[in-house]
Amino acid sequence: MKAWGSAMIRKSIVPMLFCIGTVFMSCVLSCNAMAYENIVIVIDPGHGGPGTEGETDSGAQYNNVQEKNVDMITAQALYEELSQYGNLTVYLTRTEDTHMDLQERVDFAKSVGANYLISVHYNASAHHRFYGSEIFTSAFGEEYAKGYSLAATIMSWWVEDGCVSKGIKTRIGRNGDYYGLIRMGREAGIPTIILEHGYLDNDTDFTHLNTEEAWKHMGILDATAIADHFGAKKGVVSAGIEENLVVAVPTGQMDDDQTPPVNVSFTIDGYDPVSRVLSYTVSAKEQDSFLMYYDVDTQTLAADEDKGFMHLNVWQNGAESMQGTYIVPEGYEGPFVARVYNNYEKFTDTEPVTIPAEYLGNTIMLSGNGGTYIGGSDGDTGITGSEMPKVTLQDGSGATWTLEGALDEAKGADFIVDPDNLKENVRHYIGFIAAIVVAALMLIAALVLAIASNVSRKKRKNSRNDINNTRY
Ligand SMILES: [Zn+2]
Repeated sequence: MKAWGSAMIRKSIVPMLFCIGTVFMSCVLSCNAMAYENIVIVIDPGHGGPGTEGETDSGAQYNNVQEKNVDMITAQALYEELSQYGNLTVYLTRTEDTHMDLQERVDFAKSVGANYLISVHYNASAHHRFYGSEIFTSAFGEEYAKGYSLAATIMSWWVEDGCVSKGIKTRIGRNGDYYGLIRMGREAGIPTIILEHGYLDNDTDFTHLNTEEAWKHMGILDATAIADHFGAKKGVVSAGIEENLVVAVPTGQMDDDQTPPVNVSFTIDGYDPVSRVLSYTVSAKEQDSFLMYYDVDTQTLAADEDKGFMHLNVWQNGAESMQGTYIVPEGYEGPFVARVYNNYEKFTDTEPVTIPAEYLGNTIMLSGNGGTYIGGSDGDTGITGSEMPKVTLQDGSGATWTLEGALDEAKGADFIVDPDNLKENVRHYIGFIAAIVVAALMLIAALVLAIASNVSRKKRKNSRNDINNTRY
């Protein structure tokens, strides 16, 4: 009994130690709660200015929208909403469309004793391919831990609201943090984050971010998220509020990801020549950040940075591979390339891949030479001899068939003839040729017979003459 009891105690010590370790670890990581009576938050509408020469700072400009105006609408909605919460004091760096240096913005935040500086922006990219929302924070010290933690709460509210997350990121420049506002904010001891609410130059985002109502909604959402992060209550002043850090204060710099995804592979799983829909699987790995987008394009478009991969798909969080479909441009017969991006916009393209012959083998592609395509009301098509005097057919193995003359009722859709019909047509055609050949042979035979009989008649006549001669 005693021995059994001590064994129990020994057994339970290990999980107990593990429990203590977990509690300790999670304290380091997330129980780092700091209590405040009041938190000062400075909201900074990005950009701004009258747009005079040398002073133009309108931010992204697309779809007849200037980013500085959208930033202001969202920032003002954020300010008005957040001001209604207890234990929070909220300021705006600017309320007019005026030019303001980054240092001036930080100096203002410092002057009002800001605990946080939050800059409000919308995004755009060089080739207009990206969409989604991202938040930048300092890569260093307490500014990283506090900025990242606040950003994580805001991002979770954004994602809940339907935004695509491009992550909470750092960006390293030559002098530390790449973004001036974040760098200067840190120098002033103010955790500073840049909210990139979405892309004004990409329809995936812009269709949801194209009205004043939508821009105000984002501001109210930001305010709700920020209040949630600090546990502040609307219209209620509490004894105190607090913030939780979800990441530890780093000792070094939190690097941005400078390397693209690895082990990127691409297979074509199927192809339907009628609809030209190609189905595929893309696999990839990303150790430093996360996989963000994937797409497939023709090799021609893939080589054109301005036109290729313009319809990026979102890589499902944590997935090892993704499946998709691609509509092959009409007439394209070359190979295809897949591209995978990580959330730092670094990408890897695969080697070109051609459609496996097995997916082309069931149908025979038909390219007309002076041929005409006739559409049928029942979905079938009829190609007749008069419209299609000569056609070249290629089957899945690459073998070509050239047919001249009548092609009766070659059925199929959009320049595709199914092999059974083709065989039938070939059979008809061969039958037709055979008939001509047989007829010609019979004619020759008849001629030969006729000549032969004529010769023998002449011979007989001559011999008769001979006979006659001999008779006379
Ligand atoms: Zn901006």
